[in-house]
Amino acid sequence: MSDIQIVDAPPGVEGAGFFATSIDKVMGLARSYSLWPLPFATSCCGIEFMATMSPHYDLARFGAERLSFSPRQADLLMVMGTISKKMGPVLRQVYLQMAEPRWVLAMGACASSGGIFDTYSVLQGIDEIIPVDVYIPGCPPRPEAVIDGFMQIQKLVQTESLRRRDTPEYQKLLASYGIQ
Ligand code: SF4
Repeated sequence: MSDIQIVDAPPGVEGAGFFATSIDKVMGLARSYSLWPLPFATSCCGIEFMATMSPHYDLARFGAERLSFSPRQADLLMVMGTISKKMGPVLRQVYLQMAEPRWVLAMGACASSGGIFDTYSVLQGIDEIIPVDVYIPGCPPRPEAVIDGFMQIQKLVQTESLRRRDTPEYQKLLASYGIQ
C-alpha cells in the first residue's frame, strides 16, 4: 500500500484530496524542501555556489534560499574549496555545533579528495574528519552539478527516518568519526 493516497472528494467538496498513512513521508517531503544550508566556502568553488544561488539557476526553487551562517540554524553543511589541515578542526567544530538531523555535501574535487593540492598541508577530503553524505565532482562543478548534488540530498532526506540519529547505520557512522 502506498504511503500517500489520493482519494475521491466527499459529497459536496470539489477536487481530489489525499490522506497519509505514514507521517514520515510527509515530514520527509516537507523537510527536503526547507533545508537551510550553511555554505562553508574557502576558495574558487564558493564562487560557483554564488552562481548557483543567482536568479539564473535559482536554488530557491528547491526551498533552500535561506542560507544560514550559524551552525545552530542550519541542517545542510555545504563544504566548498580547499580545506587545510589547520582549518580541519574548525570545520569539525562547525559540524558538531549543528543539531540533528544534519547532512553534509562536499562540493568539488578539493572538498572531496584534496583535488590538485596533494600536499602535506591540505586535507585529502573532508571525510577524513566528518561524515559526508553526497560528493559533487568537478573543479569547479558547474551550478547544474551543484543542483544535482542538492537533489541527491533531498532524496536522502525524504527516505530517511525522522530520527536519523537513532538509526544503527548512522550511529555506526558517527562512532567511526569518534562522535557520540
Ligand atoms: Fe578551486 Fe577546483 Fe578546488 Fe573547487 S575543486 S576549490 S575550483 S581548485
